[in-house]
Amino acid sequence: MTSKPATYLDYNATAPIRPEARDAVLRAFELAGNPSSVHAAGRAARDVVETARKAVGELVGVVAGSVTFVSGGTEANVLAIDSAVASGVKRIVVSAIEHDAVVETAAASGVSVSVLPVDADGVADLSKLSELLAGEGRTLVCLMLANNETGVIQPVAQASAIVRAADGLLHVDAVQAAGKIAIDFSALGADTLALSAHKIGGPQGVGALVAGTRANVVRRQHGGGQERGRRAGTENVAGIAGFGAAAVAALRDLPQAADQGIWRDALAQRVKDAGGVVLGEGAARLPQTLCLAAEGFASQVQVMNLDLAEVMVSAGSACSSGKVKASRVVEAMGRSDLAPFALRVSGGWASTEADWIVCGDAWLAAWKRIGARRREVA
Ligand code: PLP
Repeated sequence: MTSKPATYLDYNATAPIRPEARDAVLRAFELAGNPSSVHAAGRAARDVVETARKAVGELVGVVAGSVTFVSGGTEANVLAIDSAVASGVKRIVVSAIEHDAVVETAAASGVSVSVLPVDADGVADLSKLSELLAGEGRTLVCLMLANNETGVIQPVAQASAIVRAADGLLHVDAVQAAGKIAIDFSALGADTLALSAHKIGGPQGVGALVAGTRANVVRRQHGGGQERGRRAGTENVAGIAGFGAAAVAALRDLPQAADQGIWRDALAQRVKDAGGVVLGEGAARLPQTLCLAAEGFASQVQVMNLDLAEVMVSAGSACSSGKVKASRVVEAMGRSDLAPFALRVSGGWASTEADWIVCGDAWLAAWKRIGARRREVA
């Protein structure tokens, strides 16, 4: 008996590892050396790290020296915010749709935090930014490049112009945008930018903080002088090797990344025809992310029904404990009514048109069953 392969459309949670990244990880495991050692084995490990640094830099248009390797997107965000606070910022502005890593680090930073609202499509409302930047001392603004739940792309370059005019700093969480749309760090006008390997087809547990000349990266953990004193601890050589290989492949595949948008939109149409809603549809979005909602069809019920059909997707917001909570992002968009019903479908480098169709079939079948049951009860 041949079994149908499962359909994986949860790339915004973690992308499957790319073959190039897996190979690079395995090759790196064969190296014995510590990249800080001066002998041949150490130099070979150092070479792997520096080759990867160059590749990760190229993904976002910066030189290798701007890249600090860390343990993932979370740490990159934490390092950026803590560094800005250590450098003397007096206030932090976070958009209403930032990842918990940003929201909670800002909240724990000890400086005052204000929230930049988003409009009904989930786009940051920049008309409010100047007023939030006003006041004594410097402000750090955190605005992600693309949202993890809706895929909505944020007006980062426009925000940067406002932030610069007020002599503020801008941190950009580009964890979800990387590898899905082209990124040019200078054109964005960011001071710091967070990346994560496992969202682009690299291994989990490795990421990078990109820092421009205005940012001062201040080490958070003390120890050795690795990463030019910015992040102590022996580098995750294999993880970094995989990150570098994934960055090369992601940059190479960018022209094809837009294909997902056609397949995504076809599924969106089927959902809308059946009475569902697509969130953020009026804004520019990552081509491979779909956030949908259907009133009465709870997020976790959708996830479970699709899982039974061997289709893997996420609730709008699944926290690390695996519990599903109402989507904070959908609430910020003024759709609290839909927040308990949000579902995120996200494809990526290995997704096919068939995956999106299978997902649509499974979703529609489940939605029909739910509708029939609701009619029976009524
Ligand atoms: N930022 C965003 C927008 C994310 O979606 C995620 C992961 O879901 C992170 C940061 C955290 O990245 P990591 O899992 O590498 O810590």
